[in-house]
Amino acid sequence: MTKAYSYACGDCEGMEACPASVTAETKDEVWQLMGHHARIAHGENPVDWDQETRDYLDTLIREVDV
Ligand SMILES: [Zn+2]
Repeated sequence: MTKAYSYACGDCEGMEACPASVTAETKDEVWQLMGHHARIAHGENPVDWDQETRDYLDTLIREVDV
């Protein structure tokens, strides 16, 4: 088993209806994929996320075994 990081968009406040989740080997990659997803699915620009938003999203990234 290998450690990986996972983020489920539905865990995010206000995004409960979103079925998307991303899993990657590094947190860095998860952030990239989250940004990608936010842009495609929610029309958000990750560049606009402030520190508070980033801190919050960071708490939603879970370590998983794959
Ligand atoms: Zn989403």
